[in-house]
Amino acid sequence: MKRIRLLVPDGMYKDIYEINAQLLMSLGKEGVVFDIDNTVAPYEILRPTQEMKDYFTSLGKSGIKIAFVSNNKNDRANVFNEELGFFCVPDASKPSPKGILRCVKHMGLPAGKMLLVGDQIFTDCLAAHLAKLEFYMVKPIKDKNTLFFRIKRFFEKPFIHIYKKMKVKNESNA
Ligand SMILES: [Mg+2]
Repeated sequence: MKRIRLLVPDGMYKDIYEINAQLLMSLGKEGVVFDIDNTVAPYEILRPTQEMKDYFTSLGKSGIKIAFVSNNKNDRANVFNEELGFFCVPDASKPSPKGILRCVKHMGLPAGKMLLVGDQIFTDCLAAHLAKLEFYMVKPIKDKNTLFFRIKRFFEKPFIHIYKKMKVKNESNA
């Protein structure tokens, strides 16, 4: 993989609900690792809503394995996962691929059959690609309104632009 590709998502979706069981099966994916904050739930939602639970249930029914990898602290990730009971790696230090590699090992699937779903390029996307997983980006549910986040989003833009250009090119070749 060329170095720049490390920072370019393999897919972009509005939210997790677009990445449904049907899509995952058509892609041959059998395991999905989710970032939590701003991907599945905004920071202030401590426990999964019914909509989130239904979504995970529908993936589970299709035989898709699920795990969480969060850079947030133990408390946040474990409270969120309490009812769901998935394999969960808090404090994952993404872009380190370590947490994701633990999920790969736990699921016992080849990395090619797995996907990481997240909302950030410099943590989620890079970590996924370093672990040899494809990365699907969703729109952040609600960013913290801090300068740090605004700067981060600004620097993500060129990579999202590359993704969009590549997508147009692939579609016109198809
Ligand atoms: Mg996130």
